[in-house]
Amino acid sequence: PFDVLVVGGGPAGAAAAIYAARKGIRTGIAAERFGGQVLDTVSIENFISVSHTEGPRFATQLESHVGDYDVDVMNLQTATALVPAAEEGGLHEIVLKNGASLRARTLILSTGARWRQMNVPGENEYRNKGVTYCPHCDGPLFKGKRVAVIGGGNSGVEAAIDLAGIVGHVTLIEYDSQLRADAVLQRKLGSLANVKVITSALTTEVFGDGNKLTGLTYKDRDRGTEHQIELEGIFVQIGLVPNTEWLKGAVALTPHGEIGIDARGATSQPGIFAAGDATTVPYKQIVIAAGAGSAAALSAFDYLIRLPAE
Ligand code: FAD
Repeated sequence: PFDVLVVGGGPAGAAAAIYAARKGIRTGIAAERFGGQVLDTVSIENFISVSHTEGPRFATQLESHVGDYDVDVMNLQTATALVPAAEEGGLHEIVLKNGASLRARTLILSTGARWRQMNVPGENEYRNKGVTYCPHCDGPLFKGKRVAVIGGGNSGVEAAIDLAGIVGHVTLIEYDSQLRADAVLQRKLGSLANVKVITSALTTEVFGDGNKLTGLTYKDRDRGTEHQIELEGIFVQIGLVPNTEWLKGAVALTPHGEIGIDARGATSQPGIFAAGDATTVPYKQIVIAAGAGSAAALSAFDYLIRLPAE
């Protein structure tokens, strides 16, 4: 069995594996797709000390850094269930899609999250060519330009306020007849001169010139009419879904499916830790996920040294 088994191979999982292996304990990492979300990222400019890099290059470097250590890397392995140890200090079990199962004294869950998509024509075609999901990451790319934010919940309204300070103009599009964000955010939004809010609007298409996005079409849900807006960018903010469906019943999840953790990365189960976008950590970013993964590994080590000798 492993001392530490990491499930998920994004920035959180890679950092956890490196920190665990540096303690000289038996470490494994199982990942559906080593690299995680950064594989889908074009440019990264906010990983501190690296001015600019590309997602796939960053993912390769994650894997090679893990490879510097004695870590059992199991790529292309999907976990489908977790069976927590029957008694404290016992072995936890991770069941894989291929039927095999892995046992470990401690686990670090770092299966990340995925952005909810609009699922409209053009969205995938213009992804990273104008369609984006992350204002903290890509906001500066649209300096002075026209953008839309899709979604009027807290994340959409926060994004619109954030972007209004960078871009030329923001159109916020909400499906419902009113915004769902906190009142204080809505007041702030209402005070901004370069923001327009359109409610009862369903985005039906994203269009462009073949190379880059040039606008979107929405349907006015009250009148049934169709309208087009010309834009350079669209920020889709309709939800980040944690990859935790497989953990239901095994560790405590919030109503949104995030794994509940404390400041050390401990979950509701002794010996099971979690880190990164799959958890309740407030900001979903690479540098934050990597920091959380490192902390979770140190917590797992702390837990292990306190177990009674076998
Ligand atoms: P992830 O990167 O999501 O990794 C999760 C890992 O778990 C993957 O290896 C996945 O295959 C695996 N996994 C999932 N389910 C299972 C399972 N059941 N069994 C086994 N393995 C599983 N952040 C920035 O800081 N800067 C940026 O510029 C930036 N740009 C972004 C651009 C895009 C398009 C996207 C989508 C995100 C961007 N982000 C950016 C956010 C950043 O990528 C995430 O915050 C970060 O990757 C989270 O790391 P993580 O390790 O928690 O999860």
